[in-house]
Amino acid sequence: MGFGGSWKGLGVLRGFGGFEGVWGSWKVAALGGPGGVRGLLRFLQLSPERCLVDGAVSGLPPGPHGLHIHEFGDLSDPCNSCGGHFNPDGESHGGPQDQHRHAGDLGNIWADAEGHARFRIEDSKLKVWDIIGRSVVVAEGEDDLGRGSHPLSRVTGNSGPGLACGVVARSSEPLVLQLLRLL
Ligand SMILES: [Zn+2]
Repeated sequence: MGFGGSWKGLGVLRGFGGFEGVWGSWKVAALGGPGGVRGLLRFLQLSPERCLVDGAVSGLPPGPHGLHIHEFGDLSDPCNSCGGHFNPDGESHGGPQDQHRHAGDLGNIWADAEGHARFRIEDSKLKVWDIIGRSVVVAEGEDDLGRGSHPLSRVTGNSGPGLACGVVARSSEPLVLQLLRLL
């Protein structure tokens, strides 16, 4: 896609008002899973190096849960058909602050005692235009950010199977506004 434009495009794009973004528009993923976990995530590219991800997930076991973008937007066997973490650069799994990591590694979100997690993340590697049609998965367990001793640490952060998943999609602005009220 033709997003190779310079920063000068920013001023043109700014000023659409509402929640139309500064570098394109919001994209949305509605999350669900077999265990009743539900959630909503929004993505907005603020600049080529800043991707804003915010959202809310409910029905989680309290505590930390890995949050990752997966390669495929295939929910035919939710959440087992989403493939591995989105990894266009052939890196090992890591944490969101690591230089070497999967592009889809967003670290952990934390669910409170009621099983509700709210979060706002700015990520330097993720690009919204690379993940449309891919999936977001909230993992059962904590992501060890590639620093654990388990063999899966450098693959998935040993965060276990997915509890909820959804496809990143284009969304109409009225829908985004409606979703906003739920967050
Ligand atoms: Zn990963």
